[in-house]
Amino acid sequence: MADQMSGGCACGRVRYSATIENDEAYLCHCRMCQRATGSVSIAFKNVKQADVKWDGEPDWYDSSPIAIRPYCRECGTSIGFQFKEGSENMDLTVASFDDPTRFKPKHHFGAESLHRAWINTERLPEYKTSDYDVLVKKWVDATGKMPE
Ligand SMILES: [Zn+2]
Repeated sequence: MADQMSGGCACGRVRYSATIENDEAYLCHCRMCQRATGSVSIAFKNVKQADVKWDGEPDWYDSSPIAIRPYCRECGTSIGFQFKEGSENMDLTVASFDDPTRFKPKHHFGAESLHRAWINTERLPEYKTSDYDVLVKKWVDATGKMPE
């Protein structure tokens, strides 16, 4: 069933709502996405361009001869990816959704530059933000509470 889901950048200047048809998403490992996001990979949800309504227009980074990327010039959040021509679809970054929890990775793309050491991380110890006393004190001193 299709749902309307909202999202946006870290500072809130760029906001969107998008029609989401299913829970399928993917990880892109290509070097262009690694460089554009500064991340080892980026989680994307593919949607129809016509199903994305902007409320607070994004800025568009002309990232290559074939693609542009929506982002926020104020806070720098990467919001997605779009081919300049030849596709009615675009990608939105999974973590820019207000509730990213429903999406599940269904495949890896750009596997030629996949950093394998970052894929299988289940064996690593896990620490919560709230376990790091120095960070908790900084937040509480600055705002009275931890961020949501
Ligand atoms: Zn922003």
